[in-house]
Amino acid sequence: MTEENIAQTARRLHQTTLVVDAHADTAGRQVSRGASRLDLSGALPGYEVDLPKLKAGGIDLQVFACAVGAHDTLGALRTMGLLLEEVDRHPDDLLLIRAARDLRRAREQGKVGCLLASEGSIPLHGERGVLRAFHELGLRLVTLVHAEQPTPWSAQADASYFGLCDDAFREAERQTKQGLTEWGKELVRLLNAAGIVIDLAHCNDATFYQTLELSEQPVVVSHACAFALCPHSRNLTDEQLKALAERRGVVGLAFYHKFVAERGGDLERLLDHFLHVLEVGGTDCVGLGSDFDGLPAGTAPLVPDASQLPLLTEGLLRRGVDEETVRKILGGNFERVFTEVLAGP
Ligand SMILES: [Zn+2]
Repeated sequence: MTEENIAQTARRLHQTTLVVDAHADTAGRQVSRGASRLDLSGALPGYEVDLPKLKAGGIDLQVFACAVGAHDTLGALRTMGLLLEEVDRHPDDLLLIRAARDLRRAREQGKVGCLLASEGSIPLHGERGVLRAFHELGLRLVTLVHAEQPTPWSAQADASYFGLCDDAFREAERQTKQGLTEWGKELVRLLNAAGIVIDLAHCNDATFYQTLELSEQPVVVSHACAFALCPHSRNLTDEQLKALAERRGVVGLAFYHKFVAERGGDLERLLDHFLHVLEVGGTDCVGLGSDFDGLPAGTAPLVPDASQLPLLTEGLLRRGVDEETVRKILGGNFERVFTEVLAGP
């Protein structure tokens, strides 16, 4: 393919594929700044995700993490409230994803689907009724664990390690940690029954394998990269990639340089991660999990913002990834899991 053909093909793929980004912290960032309103119209500078950028990047479905940082129930409600207000304010542009059919509907109507997520399960307070209420409000994805210290209602018994490590450390984590708490195990069953997607980003290795065993539905890892290429605790080992793929799960590769390389990660190195996961896990287990608006202050993602996403697609095509596989990466794989889980058991 010539350079011109690559750019054209990337544009066409973005127009004709349901493009899914499995993780952005835009709303949570706005709430943590103390704002009483989220403005996705594009008027706010410094955000990597807003409506004009999503449209320019051809993104049809954005997963918005609603609980981050403080992990409290009120914070999660506040963030979800601001997002729901934005959906009300832009009915021609945004659609709340509540059911499997909404995924198709968003694309057919040319709207951006908003899927509400909780990064961490602390806001659920260990109570089935609270989960039920959050489901009613539109919560459709729960990351079991975030960066929290253990509380009486944590899904995981220990805090997750965060940083560079090695294979021996990962194996020790798997063997010696308790993994899921009793509530964590019940939560997996409740999420399956409610038709809410389980996300294993941020959890330790014991929780990862236990949840894969326990969950009757495929799970996702919304934002992580490949441990074989960058030995960060947040990345998935080849064994994890294979286990995830066997259970029809999907990992969204994150655009964070520290997950991509120990030093100097760039877009080319991120593309290496895509090729590695394709090789180890096959074509059905990889997607996008940008972590837009979620990286530490002053850190630019390897794809600068949502509008620039076609740069990644061009890179995949340039590396020889075929169009069908690119479609799966851009959204087909997450669409499959979300459709199956949101349809309910
Ligand atoms: Zn995260």
